[in-house]
Order: sequence, then C-alpha cells, then structure tokens
Amino acid sequence: MNSLKIVSLVFFVRSMEQIPCPCCGERLNVIGSRRRKYLTSQSLPQVVVIRRLRCCRCGRIHHELPDFLVPYKRYAGEAIEPVVANELPLSVAVDESTITRWRQWFAERAEHFAGCLESIRIRFGYGFVGGPSDLSLSVLQRIWHYVGDAPAWLARVVRTVANTNQWVHTRSAFCPSWQGYTIML
Ligand SMILES: [Zn+2]
Repeated sequence: MNSLKIVSLVFFVRSMEQIPCPCCGERLNVIGSRRRKYLTSQSLPQVVVIRRLRCCRCGRIHHELPDFLVPYKRYAGEAIEPVVANELPLSVAVDESTITRWRQWFAERAEHFAGCLESIRIRFGYGFVGGPSDLSLSVLQRIWHYVGDAPAWLARVVRTVANTNQWVHTRSAFCPSWQGYTIML
C-alpha cells in the first residue's frame, strides 16, 4: 500500500512496502527525492516526486517508481500497453513513430519478460495464473498466462521483472508501486 499526498498536482510516491535492494536483498535507506515527469495516454504532462534510496550493503542507488510508469519511458504504461498489445482502435494521442518505437521496444524484450516470469514461477511458485505456459502460444499470450490480460498487465510485468533485478537497462533503477505495488530500479 502506498500513501500519496497531493501538493499542487504533484504526487509524492511513498511505498509502504519494504522492498529490499533488487541487487543484493539488503535494506534500503531513503537519501532524497527527485521529480519524474511523464505523459498520459492523452499526452498530458504530469509530475511525480519519487524517492532515491541507497542500499546499506552494496551502496547502489535505486529509484522508487510507481508501477503506472515504465522505467525510462516518457509515457505512462496506460499509453504503451494497448499499443504493444496491438489493440484496435487505439485511443492514444501519440505519433506513428512513437507507436513504431514502442512496438519495437516490446518485441525486443517480450521473450525476456516471458522468460523472467517463467523463472520466477519456477522459483517462487505463487502469484501467477496457472502452471507452466504452453510454448505454442504467442509470446504475448505466454506473458498474459502469468500476469493475466486485465488492464495494467504491463505494470505487473514491469514490477515483477524490475523488482527481481531482471530489468534490462543502462542505469540503476527500481520500482515500488501505486495503490499497493511499486517498482525498484
Ligand atoms: Zn544492495
């Protein structure tokens, strides 16, 4: 559960979960905060204030993102999700080149996401829909097999992959959550 307070339309994200360091599993200390801008599916600019945390063992810096954001993406997950799932008609106010870029981004990572979800299912054995997925399914169907296809499925993928330190990125970040879940990057 997160508690949020609104000051001048800026959300402060505070995870009530105790998410450990995704790198080594140790406790994280809050060392500051910073603004994170993003755009909604209608391209409206929004700002959240996210916390910076440092691991007391490995010293790595992480950022606590609400899980409606996708790490390193300017748009919220609600904008990206219908695009990468090829939903029609699209009601997202973005240009064609952005749509193409998101689809390419997802196509490059979808097998990695499905593999992470499968490995987590084997390791922890709970929290996922059903047992092993049928490999004859499309990669998106395999992802949905684990996290369901209800809205915010992309958030569930991002949160699970990021919080187990399997997010493919060039900088260190992490995800805690919004209304219950966050992502640590
Ligand atoms: Zn650590």
